[in-house]
Amino acid sequence: MPELPEIEVLRRSLAPRLTGRRIERVEVFAPALREPLDRRALSRRLAGRAVTALRRRSKYLLIDVEGGSTLVVHLGMSGRLTLVPAATPREPHEHLAFQLDRGERLRLRDPRRFGVAFAAATAGLETDPHFAHLGPEPLDPPLDGAALAAIATGLSAPVKAFLMDASRLVGVGNIYATEALFRAGIHPARSVARISSGRWARLAAAVVEVLEQAIRAGGTTLNDFTDGAGNEGYFQVDLAVYGRAGEPCPRCAAPVRRLVQSNRSSFYCPRCQR
Ligand code: ZN
Repeated sequence: MPELPEIEVLRRSLAPRLTGRRIERVEVFAPALREPLDRRALSRRLAGRAVTALRRRSKYLLIDVEGGSTLVVHLGMSGRLTLVPAATPREPHEHLAFQLDRGERLRLRDPRRFGVAFAAATAGLETDPHFAHLGPEPLDPPLDGAALAAIATGLSAPVKAFLMDASRLVGVGNIYATEALFRAGIHPARSVARISSGRWARLAAAVVEVLEQAIRAGGTTLNDFTDGAGNEGYFQVDLAVYGRAGEPCPRCAAPVRRLVQSNRSSFYCPRCQR
């Protein structure tokens, strides 16, 4: 399942190639992905309009066009959004395509159909049901300790669950949360009510660092952006503890432990993380 870094790399890779391009025609080949594909709204809002900007909100890619509309795309479990020459034959599972000027096609392939694509007014998009419940972004502006502590005020959840709760903070998946907690020296089960301001600052910095490292790794992994994001799974960040139960902690050599929290595996060093 694509995570925030994958979508951010996709955004950065597509932005220079899509901005200014005109969408000439919208082609819908399936009635629905996870939600119905509204052929009329997609055509009415997007056809004939030039792309003005590519943005990201959580794991949604937002493609703004002239006239105050936005194409919203979520890749679900298996979606791929790619830019190809218009003459490229339609792929299996290509459920949605945008014919662009200058002979290109933006296509969404989604074998499992867990993705989402719709067009809506740009103004007020943040109150759309897909976005209204989402917490703040971790990178824009970069999260700091005071902001993180403020989000946690009045809560008592384990810090790992807190980090992964998209209604508090978006974009911190299981692996990224696990690694950020290791870097900050915080035990994943520690209550957010018992974290000092100094530790919040270290944790915020670690979250930003882990995500930015993944984005950088993704940018270098994808040496050919012409086909959009061809990646699978997580970008390679240096995994100090994730998946390493029983192996020595890279900092102190104590055996890394595994802990299951809300059905998700956490890994931590019992000596470095308190
Ligand atoms: Zn250690």
